[in-house]
Amino acid sequence: MKNCIACGMPMLKPEQHAQGDTSKDYCVHCARPDGTMQSYEEKLASMTQFIIKTQGLDEETARQTAQDLMSVLPAWQGR
Ligand SMILES: [Zn+2]
Repeated sequence: MKNCIACGMPMLKPEQHAQGDTSKDYCVHCARPDGTMQSYEEKLASMTQFIIKTQGLDEETARQTAQDLMSVLPAWQGR
């Protein structure tokens, strides 16, 4: 089993990998429609929106939280 390198989600089933391709290290939620991985900015924006929706934080706090979460993930090391 792999965890998505961009959001940390465990990928338990082939269809949770981008395009159902288990050789890809990122999940369907981190893939663009063409199957390539989203950029840091794209992922940060979508995670910020997700946190606002699920935790009710204001945008600035949610963005900071998203940056903290992403900073430990392999895809964004060194940012
Ligand atoms: Zn992901």
